[in-house]
Amino acid sequence: MQPFPVPPDEIPVGGDWQRGAGPTSACVDPADGEVIATVHAADPAQVDAAARAGAGAAVDPAWRDLLPHQRAHMLDRVADAIEHHAEQLALLQTRNTGKTLGETRALVASAAGTFRYYSAALETLEGELPPSRGAHLTMSVHEPIGVVGAITPWNSPIASDAQKIAPALAAGNAVLLKPAEATPLVSLALARLAHDAGVPPALLSVLPGPGAVVGDAIARHPLVGKLAFTGGTTTGRVLGRIAAERIIPVTMELGGKSPTIVCEDADVDEAVAGILYGIFSSTGQSCVAGSRIFLPRKRYEELAQRLVAGATALRVGPGTDPATRIGPLATFAHRDKVAAMVDRAREEGARIRCGGTIPDEARLARGAFYPPTLLDGLAPDAKTCQEEIFGPVGVLLPYDDEDDLVTQANATVYGLACGIWTADYRRALRLARRIEAGTVWINTYKQFSISTPFSGVKDSGLGADKGRAAIRGYQRQKSLYLNLATEPIAWAGA
Ligand code: NDP
Repeated sequence: MQPFPVPPDEIPVGGDWQRGAGPTSACVDPADGEVIATVHAADPAQVDAAARAGAGAAVDPAWRDLLPHQRAHMLDRVADAIEHHAEQLALLQTRNTGKTLGETRALVASAAGTFRYYSAALETLEGELPPSRGAHLTMSVHEPIGVVGAITPWNSPIASDAQKIAPALAAGNAVLLKPAEATPLVSLALARLAHDAGVPPALLSVLPGPGAVVGDAIARHPLVGKLAFTGGTTTGRVLGRIAAERIIPVTMELGGKSPTIVCEDADVDEAVAGILYGIFSSTGQSCVAGSRIFLPRKRYEELAQRLVAGATALRVGPGTDPATRIGPLATFAHRDKVAAMVDRAREEGARIRCGGTIPDEARLARGAFYPPTLLDGLAPDAKTCQEEIFGPVGVLLPYDDEDDLVTQANATVYGLACGIWTADYRRALRLARRIEAGTVWINTYKQFSISTPFSGVKDSGLGADKGRAAIRGYQRQKSLYLNLATEPIAWAGA
């Protein structure tokens, strides 16, 4: 494989592409187990160098004094570069994460769209003149924080990286990005493209390596003034504690166990197609995966059978095969974790409606594959119904009426997303307001727009990504008072 477009033994540290001084880690294609690259992790001294260089670059007049439309132009050039290399980036991400090419092409397009959106948002973002209560003009201005630490997971790297880098740069900051240890290749490629497109290199460092070492060093670095995290709730708590000690802002996009709800009057074809997409696309490795599937008791068996038939028909295979719907899990370790969670579901008394065992087909033998799996027969408070599996595993749950449904759907520590399938828009809106979630889809699922804020409630997150306001999340607000009075302040009596 071509190590496009960056030699994997180099990482960008504070403007200098150099060998990571930390341990090496192998990037493995989970479709066949082949080692595609060996990446050298950063070490804490390189985190320090990147933070210092980033802080210097953020206040360099060549960057600091750029007008918004000039910074916007630079973001546009990054978008152009991503689009120009879209196919290579998609293939690189498919090889490193196992996702299908259809999925990685969409993620690459989303990353380019994110840079373009923040370019447009930056050009049109306006300040405020709050009404004055005296003889002065009051202005509220927004300034960069300086250095932002961005920490991202392995499931959709280029898109989740772009969602942090683009608004942070738009806001005028330097970024230290720590991609997941297993999937850093596309993040490194993105940095190379961004530098080539004109982003001052010290403004974007990519520091791969173990979260507990490199991520921790970023979070604790005194020059890092904001943390932007996407990942699991356990890590979110660790980073939230560090942010609290340091009194710096943190945004957290965390895990989920999202309900997807079929009402009695739903269009069954639409609901089945949307539910299968919602839980099984990306092989279930999606924070918003609709993993708790609520079916009305009166139509339970009919709907369950439709879902089982649909799931069983999904083709499992490598992400490079256009016929594949279910690629491998991103790593072998994660596949084994998913398999163990299904085994635990069996111990809890689950009935396996389809899937549930590692495939024994010869063509899948070398990859980290797991089939689409549907379970039922569990109480709503069973561990399998409460804990995020982050794999192609959905739990079917019956409900009796709307109150029972809302009680069950909200009985989770998470609150990320929800899907509602119904022909009655009144019911849809009523339910949408009663469900505790950051995003609710009605008669659709897993649709995103960079212009629409994305956030979780409860243990699913804090603060929002996306939308124009995200730029403000990477800035500090300052109030300016400009005196308009012609007399001195009378207080001293002079
Ligand atoms: P983790 O929380 O384990 O890891 C996420 C990132 O944090 C990785 O880069 C990881 O590094 C790093 N990290 C781990 N420990 C620390 C630490 N102590 N200090 C600093 N950084 C650390 O999550 P996963 O990688 O397992 O990702 C899956 C999770 O992400 C799921 O829970 C999923 O729901 C959630 N997610 C949420 C999304 C949202 O928008 N709400 C979107 C996508 C995923 P390392 O590589 O070493 O582990």
